[in-house]
Amino acid sequence: MENKLRMYNTLSRKVEQFVPKEEGKVAMYTCGPTVYHFAHIGNLRSYIMEDLLEKTLRYIGYDVKRVMNITDVGHLSSDADTGEDKMLKGAKREHKSVMEIAKFYTDAFFGDCGDLNIKTPDVVEPATNCISEFIHVIEGLMEKGYAYESGGNIYFDTSKLKEYYVLSNHSEEELLVGVREDVDEDVNKRNKTDFVLWFTKSKFDSQELKWESPWGTGYPGWHIECSCISMKHLGEYMDIHCGGVDNIFPHHTNEIAQSEAYLGHKWCNYWFHVHHLNDKSGKMSKSKGEFLTLSLLKSKGYDPKVYRLFCLQSHYRKPLEFSYEALDNIGAAYEKLVRRIGTLKKEGQVDQERFGYYRERFQEALCDDLNSSMAITVLYDMLKEDMSDATKHALAESFDQVLGLDLTVAYRMKEAEGEVDPETESYILAKIEERKAAKKEKNFALADQIRSELLEKGIVLEDTREGVKWKKA
Ligand code: AMP
Ligand code: ZN
Repeated sequence: MENKLRMYNTLSRKVEQFVPKEEGKVAMYTCGPTVYHFAHIGNLRSYIMEDLLEKTLRYIGYDVKRVMNITDVGHLSSDADTGEDKMLKGAKREHKSVMEIAKFYTDAFFGDCGDLNIKTPDVVEPATNCISEFIHVIEGLMEKGYAYESGGNIYFDTSKLKEYYVLSNHSEEELLVGVREDVDEDVNKRNKTDFVLWFTKSKFDSQELKWESPWGTGYPGWHIECSCISMKHLGEYMDIHCGGVDNIFPHHTNEIAQSEAYLGHKWCNYWFHVHHLNDKSGKMSKSKGEFLTLSLLKSKGYDPKVYRLFCLQSHYRKPLEFSYEALDNIGAAYEKLVRRIGTLKKEGQVDQERFGYYRERFQEALCDDLNSSMAITVLYDMLKEDMSDATKHALAESFDQVLGLDLTVAYRMKEAEGEVDPETESYILAKIEERKAAKKEKNFALADQIRSELLEKGIVLEDTREGVKWKKA
């Protein structure tokens, strides 16, 4: 298979030709959400662009396996080993247990993803499912001399590495600024950059989730979960690791340190990082308390696909500033676009030559370090060309496999009215229940399959905060 994609790799700080370890296959890992609050639309920008990467890989012919964790333990508010436990903070805020909070916000996250046409990764694994795997890897690190016990906790010893800052050329001083939100230096650490693998000396008296370990009762650090969950499902090597730029340090830096120390070889070849969505006051963050959610945009009447298009119109390696004015402009453009496509007559002959030409141009744009706005320009160009409606319709349908904007169904969805007969309705409701049960069992692949089955029958599901709703496509 020809390797067409060129993408920026944070590891080499260059745009490189993407070559997977195994021909035709891609092992991909995504840092999942910390489920102590709703995802904000900045988080969702990262997941939209990662979805675009995955769908581009599939579009150009790769067989992709994508794994995502759900952070339901261990992530402290400083991203390093200081500050509050984010999950505990959420539980206290809502007077609920940590697991209740985790379940509620995990469901809310996948509801947002559904609205945004973000495909559920092939494997989704909450950190609390994998405690024995974490312990196993930490034991291995202890045996190899990369970890030590101090003051009750287990730390990774960064001084044992040849190179620690592999992901960034920033100075050590600069990088540590972000970690110093809480200035309490941990006196147990041998080196400033060491990090916790396992907490036994809990900093939090009310720590709810604790497990037995060879080092005493406690809980894992945040970084270890991604290393272990990826190894569990993808093995010792991975092609692409994704996240937002804030994950570069310390999270991904520490993931590389511990994974490569444990495995004894290079772990991941390509690092894909999405730049931040900012609002006028700066970076959007959950810890600030006030942030924009997709539900808020929906309650103001915005179609989630308009937000998706807003993200696709700008490059993932540039910071993006959010404003309602910009969203309104994109909304108007989206309306026009789907109306234009929705009124094409899809019956008739598809001109294979023109189809191939535009598919190739579309692919070229995406393969140029995911130039999504250029890919959208190709869509507009092809709509302008003098060729059959059927060809245009077929192309729009094909492009939508990657763009995920409901290009060929949105117009009909907006126009569609009317009821279904009682038999069909009870069939739909049964399917919704089946999907709910699948999600509860974390069988997201089955849940997705049910959604697609219904879509094929012209029924669209929407996950809302009030529950699942359906409408005719
Ligand atoms: P979290 O739930 O905090 O673990 O973050 C989930 C994902 O969102 C991670 O990949 C972060 O790097 C990413 N992220 C956090 N803030 C932003 C932002 N303002 N814009 C884009 N991505 C972000
Ligand atoms: Zn991670």
